[in-house]
Amino acid sequence: MCGRVCAKYIIFSLMSLLIFGTMMASTGASADSHDPTEALLKLMSGNVRFSSCQSTHPNISAERRKQVTRDGQHPFATVIACSDSRVPVEILFDQGVGDIFVIKVAGNVCNTDEIGSIEYGIDHLETPVMVVLGHTHCGACTAVATGADVHGCIPDLIAPIRPALEKEQTAHPNLHGKALVPALVEANVWQAIEDLFQRSSSIRRRTNDGRVTVVGAVYNIETGTVKWMGTHPEEDSLLADMKYNVWE
Ligand SMILES: [Zn+2]
Repeated sequence: MCGRVCAKYIIFSLMSLLIFGTMMASTGASADSHDPTEALLKLMSGNVRFSSCQSTHPNISAERRKQVTRDGQHPFATVIACSDSRVPVEILFDQGVGDIFVIKVAGNVCNTDEIGSIEYGIDHLETPVMVVLGHTHCGACTAVATGADVHGCIPDLIAPIRPALEKEQTAHPNLHGKALVPALVEANVWQAIEDLFQRSSSIRRRTNDGRVTVVGAVYNIETGTVKWMGTHPEEDSLLADMKYNVWE
C-alpha cells in the first residue's frame, strides 16, 4: 500500500528529476524495469528529448530485434493512446523496439478488448507503469462533443466517452460543441482509468499494492509535449469501493 500512496507524490518529484533523467538516458544508464518511478522517469525524459528535437532513437538496431526475439519482450510501460496518426507513442517517448506495450484505439477508450490488452501488459509482462494518453484535437472527443453523425460501428466505439461528456457539460454549462473538447479530452482520460479499475480486478490489486502506477496524460500534437495529469483524483475511493468484490 505504501508503494501506491508514495506513487501519488511521484509525479511532482519526477518533474524536478527530469534533468537527471535526461542525463541518465544520454549516458546509457538503464532504469530498473520493475520500478514505477524509474519507468515514469524514462517516459518523461524521453518526451523531453523528443519535444526538444533531441531524440536519441534507442533500441532500433538489428541487434535489438535479435535480442527481443531471443529473450522475449520486457517492456517497461503499458500505454493506451488514440489511433490518431499524429500520436506515435514510441516516437513521442523516444523509445524503441520492445520498450512499450502499446494499445491504440480511437478515443483511447477502455472497453473489453482494450482492457484485456492492458491486463496482458500489466499482469503478464509486468510493466510497472500504465499510461492513459489522450491528445489535443482528438477527433473522437470532438465527434462526441459536437454530436457528429457517425456511421457503422463508430457509435459503439465512442460510447465510453459519453459519461465524460456529461460530467463536463455539468461542470461547464456555458461551453458547447468544440469549446468543450479540451476539457473533454482530460475528462475522457479519467473516464478510461475509471472504466479500467471498474472492470479489472487484477489491475486494482496491482495498483493497491504498488506494483503498478496508473497515470493519465495528454499529448499536445503541435508542441510534442506530454502534460502529466498524475493518478486519478478519486483513485482511493475507486479502489476502496471495488475491494468489496470479495469473490475476486
Ligand atoms: Zn484522438
